[in-house]
Parts: sequence; C-alpha cells; structure tokens
Amino acid sequence: MDHKENTTLELLFQYQSIAMDNMTQGLCLFDREQRVVVSNRQYRDLYGLTEAQVQPGTTLEKICRARIARGIYSGNDPEAYVAERTAPFSDGHDRTQRLTDGRTIFIRRRPMPDGGWLTTHEDITDRCEAEAKVSFMALHDGLTGLPNRTQFHNRIEEMLARVRRGERAGLLSLDLDHFKSVNDTYGHPVGDALLQEVARRIRDTTRETDTAARLSGDEFAVLQAQVRTASDCAALAQRLISILSEPYSISGHLIMIGVSVGIAIADQENSEAECLMRSADLALYSAKNEGRGTYRHFATEMDIEMQERRRIEGDLRAALVRGEFQLYYQPIMDLRKMSPCGFEALLRWNHPQFGVVPPLNFIPIAEETGLILPITEWVLHQACNDAVSWSRPLSVAVNLSAAHFRHGNPAQSVRSALEVSGLDPARLEVEITETLLLDKTVPISEMLQEIKNMGVRISMDDFGTGYSSLSYLTDFPFDKIKIDRSFVKDLPAGKGSLAILRSIAGLGFSLGMTTTAEGVETDEQLAVAISEGCSEVQGYYFSPPRPMDEMAETLQRCDDKCAGYQRQRAVSLKVV
Ligand code: C2E
Ligand code: CA
Ligand code: CA
Repeated sequence: MDHKENTTLELLFQYQSIAMDNMTQGLCLFDREQRVVVSNRQYRDLYGLTEAQVQPGTTLEKICRARIARGIYSGNDPEAYVAERTAPFSDGHDRTQRLTDGRTIFIRRRPMPDGGWLTTHEDITDRCEAEAKVSFMALHDGLTGLPNRTQFHNRIEEMLARVRRGERAGLLSLDLDHFKSVNDTYGHPVGDALLQEVARRIRDTTRETDTAARLSGDEFAVLQAQVRTASDCAALAQRLISILSEPYSISGHLIMIGVSVGIAIADQENSEAECLMRSADLALYSAKNEGRGTYRHFATEMDIEMQERRRIEGDLRAALVRGEFQLYYQPIMDLRKMSPCGFEALLRWNHPQFGVVPPLNFIPIAEETGLILPITEWVLHQACNDAVSWSRPLSVAVNLSAAHFRHGNPAQSVRSALEVSGLDPARLEVEITETLLLDKTVPISEMLQEIKNMGVRISMDDFGTGYSSLSYLTDFPFDKIKIDRSFVKDLPAGKGSLAILRSIAGLGFSLGMTTTAEGVETDEQLAVAISEGCSEVQGYYFSPPRPMDEMAETLQRCDDKCAGYQRQRAVSLKVV
C-alpha cells in the first residue's frame, strides 16, 4: 500500500467516525467473538462509558459489566442481564429496554455476514412519556385524575373476566345531590374544586383493588372488588354517603352536598358490562326517588318499573294532543256559611288502555320531562273556562308545580288563562307546595307577587308535610293554608294531629289567612275542624273530585250533607 492509498484510507476512516459521531443514535459493531469493532460517542454517552471501556477488542460481557458498575442496566438481576445480553442470536430483532435509571432505550440488533452484528441504541424516554401522557389523558378525567368512562369500562371488563371464574364484584353508581345549585350559587371554579375534593374523598374511602371513576359532571362510580355478600357493597355505599356528606370548605365557603348510590352486584349470573351499568343506574334512580342521601340495591322490579315509566312518558306526550286529560272538581266548603265556596281542579288522565290514571302516577313524570308546562297551561285554561260557565260564581283552585316556576313563566300562564276565559281573577286560586319555597335559584317571591298583583289568591298546599317553616308563612303573604290530610286522617283520637291542626288554625287566624282542613271524611273530623277554628274543609265527606258534568249533583250533595250535619248537630245539642 503506497502513501497515497494510506492517506485515502485514513481520510475515509476519519469521515466514517465523524459521520458516526454525528448520528442521533448510539452505534456499536461487534465481531463474531462478541468484541467491539467500532462504536460511536452517543453509544458511550448513553451508558456513561469511557472511550477506553469500549475500545475495539473489548468484549460485550465487559461492556455489560461496566454498565452494571455505573448502575445503568435493565431488570433487577445484574447476572441475568449479562446472560441475556450475551446470549447468541441468529435473527435481527428490535426491543425496548427500560434502564434502572428510568430511561427507555430502543435497541436494534442486526446480524452481519461475518457472524458479528450491529446494534443501534436510541433514548426514547421523552417519546414514551408523551405517549403515556396522551394515553393517560384519553383514559382519565382531566379535572379529578380519576379514570373516565372508557377506562372504567375497561376495568369492568377485566373484572368480569374474574367474575366468570367465580369472584364477585359490586358496581356502585353515585350521583351528587344538589351539585347543580353549588355551581349556580358559587360559580364553576368552586364547583370544580368541589368535584376534585369529592374525587379525593372517594379515592380515600375505596381500596387499592377498587376502581373509582368520574363518568360525567357530578356522576361517579366505584367498582368494588372481592365482594363476598351484598352487605359489603352496602357498607361501602354507606361510608361513601357519610364521607361525601360532610361539609366542604372551598374558597372560604362552607358547602354541603349529599350523594345517592345505586348498587348492582356482578356474579356468574350477572356478568354483562352493559347490563351491570344499567342495573346500577336503575338502582341509583330509585335511590334518588326515595329521597336523596340513600343507597339502593338493584331489583328486577326496577327494570319493569322503568319500562313502564318510558311507556307512560311516550303516552303522556301524545295525551295532550289526543285530548285525554280531564279535570275533576272537588268542592271546598266554607264552614261559617256551611256552603260550598269553591272547587279544586284535579287532573285526570283517561288513558286509552289503563283507564283513569291518578295524577300521582304521571305528574312526577310530567315534571321530569318538562311536559308539566303545557299540561299546566291546559289545566289553567280549562279550569278558568269551566268556572266561567258555573251556575254559582264560586272560586276555582289550580295546582301549580314547582317545575313550572323553575322552567316556565307561571305568571304569564295565569294571565293568559284569565284573559282568554274572561274569569274574574278574584275567583281564581293557585296552590303551591312548600318544596317550591326551598328552591333559592329562582325568584319565587317575585313570581308569586306578580300573580297576586293580578288579584289571584295564593294557597300554601299540603302544609305540615315538608319543612313547614313558619317563616314561609310570614315571608310571603299567602291567602290560604291548606292543612295536609295526614293531620286530619287520625282525628279525633290523634293527639299529635289535633295539636298541629289547632296550632295551624290559630296561626292562620292570627296572620289573617284562611285555613282549609283537607281530607275530611267523617262527621267527627268535620266537628273537630269546626271546633278548632278552621275556615274551610275539603274531603270525601262532602264529595270526592267529580267531573264537570256532575257539578249540579255535586253541589246538591254538598247542600244535603250540610243540612244533614246541621240537623244532627241540633239533635245532639238538644240531647246535651
Ligand atoms: P292535592 O293537591 O293535595 O289534592 C288533593 C288530593 O286529595 C286529591 O287527590 C284528592 O282526590 C284527594 N282527596 C280529597 N279529599 C280526600 C279525602 O277525604 N280522603 C282521601 N283519602 N283523599 C282525598 P288526587 O286527585 O289523586 O291528586 C293528588 C295530587 O296530585 C294532588 O294533591 C296534587 O298534588 C296533584 N295534582 C292533581 N292535579 C294536579 C294538577 O293539575 N297539577 C299539578 N301540578 N298537580 C296536580
Ligand atoms: Ca292541591
Ligand atoms: Ca293538598
């Protein structure tokens, strides 16, 4: 080899090493004896090796041991690492190795024709972390860090595989009570902070083996592992209810919320994810209906009930159009004059299949679906129109639902019914219940005042069944208090009921409000209502609610009843 050839080779060698050192990957070429032929700077840097430690001729085993000495290898057994790395291989392969220092290296090995091989090494830690973050975000809720619906489904599926082998699990579906009003009252940042705190409490209450998830807004769920009996789930539900109901201190506000829980058990008979979720939701729905802050186990009847509800919902939509609603009228008696002073309009639904459906079976559904608005408008118009045609100018009372105040404009509905019918506003009464006054999110007082300003009277219905705060009676000038049937039904013997009836009648008298005892069925109950100073009564004693075309008979019946009662009183007074 002459001098010229020599310098060309040297140059080539230099170019090669410059090129190799400027690669982004680490590179090392081994011969068939597993000795280094050539390597680059990146290779040494990746494993923290000196140039001397990888100089040509060094065995792979030596390099492995040098890496171990630097604490940079993979797995937790150094000898196994050496054995694995130096094992002979024939095919090229790629693999990802996680090093003891936390980095992830992508290694490519390719055999060379002479029996040696080439390896490239690339640090892909950042890429892995970014990918892990993206996949974490796809499976978790951004606000609370809990698994989201997708991940929860994955966990359920994993769990169900174990359930099919005999394990039992519980699915607890959670829904916060009153969360919406927190958001409305304090704003979304406080709402968000509250959800984070809720998530923390749920996480602290569940075990490592359980999965807690946030499914949407204020909906959470827990997959409880290793359940022996249903009471394990009940115990967890109860713990969650008490922990989540403790006060929260957020941005200087003391906030109280509650939670309702529905429970479904996964066992060998019940191991379909969709079915399980649905069952837990049905149980949750039932828990919410039972009064919030409770838990319910799924029962098959709930499914039947729900199907029935769906059906009613559909039928209810069509009922208005088909003219299936009808008003029944129940007389209200003035005790001073001993004669009817008005009627309460009570809604009936003539279902083509089920016959007459009582309001309690469909009003709650109408309220939830928003159908209560058009229904109430219909009731108002019909009742006012009917009243205009009565032979005596008696008053007519219409029940207004709380949902109407929340989602509609009751004053507007009342005004329109009065205008269209031409009924004297003084003959119209609207009845509202106490639950309406609990809602602080809408200006109830202003809405009621607007109705009152038209000359319409306002009654507090079913008084005594809700919170019965006396402040309700002073905060808003009601014209009438209707004493709930439950305080009348065990009269005259019921001492507690008697005391309540007496005090409400006294209160009404002092506040200048009419008092009506509801549900009077017997002579004795009528006598108590009179002696305790109620101004009016309503009940089966005089008449049940009857259709409009029976009004004349109803009035006649009331008059007869009054005459009969008075005759009887006269007789008993004579006897005394
Ligand atoms: P409510 O407003 O308390 O109506 C009185 C209920 O007591 C009526 O039941 C009536 O039939 C019943 N009742 C009257 N006297 C007696 C009695 O002596 N003994 C017994 N056991 N019951 C008596 P109804 O008609 O089934 O209505 C139930 C509830 O449905 C009503 O309670 C009211 O809250 C609601 N409702 C009825 N019609 C309407 C309506 O048009 N709109 C709204 N929002 N709710 C309505
Ligand atoms: Ca009523
Ligand atoms: Ca009532």
